[in-house]
Amino acid sequence: MVDTDMPTESVPITPPQAQALPAVVLKSGRDKSVRAHHPRLFSGAIKLTEGRPKDGNVVDVRTNNGEWLARGIINQQAQIAVRLLSWDPTESIDDQFWYKRTARAVKLRRRDPLLSHTNARRLVFGESDGLPGVIADDYAGHIVLQLSTLAAANARASILDALVQCAGALSVTERNDEERMRHEHLRDNAGVLYGYAPQEPVEITENGLHFLVDVNTGQKTGFYLDQRENRARLARYCADTTVLNVFSYTGAFAVATAAHGAARVINIDSSPDALRMAEANARLNSGTPCLYEYVAAEAFAELRRRRAAGEQYDIVILDPPKFAHSTEQIDRAARAYKDLNRVGIGLVKAGGILAAFSCSGVIDAALFQKVMFSAAVEAGRDVQIVEKLSQASDHPILLSFPESEYLKGLLCRVL
Ligand code: SAH
Repeated sequence: MVDTDMPTESVPITPPQAQALPAVVLKSGRDKSVRAHHPRLFSGAIKLTEGRPKDGNVVDVRTNNGEWLARGIINQQAQIAVRLLSWDPTESIDDQFWYKRTARAVKLRRRDPLLSHTNARRLVFGESDGLPGVIADDYAGHIVLQLSTLAAANARASILDALVQCAGALSVTERNDEERMRHEHLRDNAGVLYGYAPQEPVEITENGLHFLVDVNTGQKTGFYLDQRENRARLARYCADTTVLNVFSYTGAFAVATAAHGAARVINIDSSPDALRMAEANARLNSGTPCLYEYVAAEAFAELRRRRAAGEQYDIVILDPPKFAHSTEQIDRAARAYKDLNRVGIGLVKAGGILAAFSCSGVIDAALFQKVMFSAAVEAGRDVQIVEKLSQASDHPILLSFPESEYLKGLLCRVL
């Protein structure tokens, strides 16, 4: 099939950059991940740097024997010294490159059948779209952009052009991801880049339901788009149930379960602002009768209190924030997930459902399942996995970058 919608590969007008560019030379035996198209090159793999590149410059990557492997952008202040962008020696990393990559990501979202029932979607998902450090989320035409690598920050103008021209943006607002920007020593650049950014929350539609998104001060870029499919999957279990929605944020799971017949939903979150928005979202979808409750509390303490009081629910949702930010934190985070889910399992009625999530990239699916096993053992309950869940299709997992698989969910039946 001829694919007319995709950008065509054109031969660059400028000559290949290969001769002129500075280069990094790898230590011997450190070429494997680069050959496998892993997009991150850590400083520890580099033997020497030729041609005195400045941070933000395009560099070639070569083996110890002089073989050309890839091309990327260097930042010697970061642990990830080179962001690899191309494995084609004829491809230049210039304004057109960034524009084309961004346009490709936008077009692929437009053709994704799983996104046809929503006007809120992630248009660009970093390395998975060949754009390290670029996140662009579209909320009914209002785009929130995060640029968390030096490479991406320097390409701001081309990325913005592509978003405006290909995604039909009404506005583009840049927000900082402070944790990631620190790693790259980037300066704050938050602000409106294009159009009139809404001061009021934006209304989006997801699977026929309506949600308000605060694109200026909400968490992440405002809404957890990655859980879109999981909300729909879980909702099917919820007719005539009581749901304990822990780490509710703005109540997206609450509204989805209520729309599928949940009789009562208790939202627990430590953020009063998030709960206020959850109330507004419930009002916005008031077609179904559901008794909502809102509890501003620290989740661990609140769950223990309810457990001690002998309370149980048909459905318990545990969708905590990221517990592990790096590999050093894996053990501690695994213990926290286990403790949380032990209490969570105890709060499920016999035959009820626990929806357990982890968005820690460094905790892989196998480890998360082991953690859930330990939690079940300690809770003294038998637990069946009925569905394994992942992130929505606008957060694609790149095979050469397994770290892009970060969201894991287990829909469990607790016996
Ligand atoms: N399930 C939500 C997303 C959850 S994000 C959705 O689908 O939209 C994690 C939430 O946990 C955030 O809203 C944050 O405010 C809340 N949170 C973080 N730490 C918490 C704690 N210790 N106790 C209660 N809530 C917490």
